[in-house]
Amino acid sequence: MITQNVDWLHQDAGASSMIELHGSFRRNVCVSCGAVEHITREQLLRDFDHISRGLRSPFIPSLLSLFPKCAVCGGPMRPDFVAFGEPIRDQAPAATAASACRSMLVVGTSGVVFPAGELPQRARTAGAPVILITDGPSAVQADITLLGDASKLLPAIVERVLAVSGSPREGTG
Ligand SMILES: [Zn+2]
Repeated sequence: MITQNVDWLHQDAGASSMIELHGSFRRNVCVSCGAVEHITREQLLRDFDHISRGLRSPFIPSLLSLFPKCAVCGGPMRPDFVAFGEPIRDQAPAATAASACRSMLVVGTSGVVFPAGELPQRARTAGAPVILITDGPSAVQADITLLGDASKLLPAIVERVLAVSGSPREGTG
């Protein structure tokens, strides 16, 4: 699974192997030394709350002074997501996975953010059919486009696949 989301919801839903192109809010990275700390959703919300309260106070030494402190060097830590202008993560593994897949299911993307937007074409070039689920315009070139709400279409697809394969609802999908 390749995602542009940073919210860890795929993992919370049981996905074990994720390529997170745009990083994750469930990790902090030290701005000074690069140390990475995994955090809980509750910790993330506490950090955001602390920062937003700090920004409302009359005086703060700096924005970075409101960030959590690194356990290694004491420097400020920020959420480990990809900001505009920063390179995406795991581009090579994502490209390899796209080139090697037997089919690609693309869900809920405009397809206009690159380089993530080139992954479906990479799969098609390698001979894999691309199935797109979208509720609006998308630049993704697909062999099959299902127009509608992904929260309704995806469960329906899973149900059909399970009915055909006769598999129990387990495994990695
Ligand atoms: Zn540090």
